[in-house]
Amino acid sequence: MSDVVSEPRQSRATRRPARVNLFGLDREAMASFFKRHGESAFRAKQVMQWIYARGVTDFSEMTDLSKKLRERLPEIAEICPPTRIREQSSRDGTRKWLLAVTQDLDPDNAIEAVYIPEADRATLCISSQIGCALDCSFCATGKQGLNRNLTTAEIIGQVWMAEHDLRAQGAVHGTRALTNIVFMGMGEPLANYREVIPAIRILLDDYGFGLSKRRVTVSTSGLVPFMDRLREEVDVALAVSLHAPNDDLRDELVPINRKYPLSELMSACDRYIEGKERRAHVVYEYVLLAGVNDQPEHARELVRLLGNRPAKINLIPFNPFEGSGYDRPAESVIRAFQDLLHARGLRTTVRRTRGDDIDAACGQLVGRVASRQKRHFRDVPIRVEGAAKPASGV
Ligand code: SAH
Ligand code: SF4
Repeated sequence: MSDVVSEPRQSRATRRPARVNLFGLDREAMASFFKRHGESAFRAKQVMQWIYARGVTDFSEMTDLSKKLRERLPEIAEICPPTRIREQSSRDGTRKWLLAVTQDLDPDNAIEAVYIPEADRATLCISSQIGCALDCSFCATGKQGLNRNLTTAEIIGQVWMAEHDLRAQGAVHGTRALTNIVFMGMGEPLANYREVIPAIRILLDDYGFGLSKRRVTVSTSGLVPFMDRLREEVDVALAVSLHAPNDDLRDELVPINRKYPLSELMSACDRYIEGKERRAHVVYEYVLLAGVNDQPEHARELVRLLGNRPAKINLIPFNPFEGSGYDRPAESVIRAFQDLLHARGLRTTVRRTRGDDIDAACGQLVGRVASRQKRHFRDVPIRVEGAAKPASGV
């Protein structure tokens, strides 16, 4: 498949630190790591429990490992969370972390993770790339172009950092702080498939974060071939950024539609839930842009497009940012759009804007927009981000 938009791959030498960051290894990869170093594969479970259940990053505290191994591990491995550059809390409890990944403290290369507490859940919205190449017309991240893919360790580091920070502050639901993870921060997760898949495995693993499959959501703008592969490799909830009910409008708003038009996208959505349990559905995200896609005829066309598909629609009133050229529709227009969908029996929610005062809403997760040269996906060499990382490839 030659359809993933991505940066040229970094050489192995520059991508791999001398010491392996264990946040980057799912259980199988960690077992191979220990075996390669002459240890039992069982060490993977022990070490993962220290890291994820107990929040320990110092090998010397891992008291059920032999003294010899505890002394050796710092030479070959590290457990290295991202560095906090800035942290902001909103009046409504939402929190946003600006994080430096690897050793790069330049805020332009930082990423953001957002914590959204609600009565019955606590969601962390995480980033999968620095910037994004897909250039959706209403998205601040898209305006940056793609800087680079995050590694599995950088993706998992966000979750670990938030989980243990929040636990330390007593913000827990039962035994954990975070109940849900959504890949709805910066970047297109399926354009970084290779690094995202092991991260998902760690989220779902009982020795990792132990989240149930319904509580991990991958949001995609519609990279059709990778939607199919996702279904084969892991079991998570899928959200699809639809935003328009016809190809002409979607071509304009979500340019990847020119490559994978609605007919192909909707078939991929059908395949994604085929054979799954009765409650399975796809969440369709629809950003409401004043005067662009928010009219009654758009709602009616959306009803026709979705037909009898098992679907939930998530309407996202546009979150403005400087120079976007779009406006959020009036409340009455949003309500009329929702009512029309409801009247045709479609389950529809309007995403309440959270963290308004700290720019923590969808599409606003960005450092400085104008500072980086914008790149369009049409101009970037299209290359394959092949299979998920092999377990032994550490
Ligand atoms: N790249 C993925 C996931 C990250 S974006 C995707 O596009 O699905 C998460 C959601 O926020 C997507 O539905 C995206 O279209 C939406 N979004 C982006 N910019 C927005 C903005 N300014 N206002 C409201 N929603 C926005
Ligand atoms: Fe990328 Fe998603 Fe933004 Fe589109 S909406 S530019 S796919 S992050």
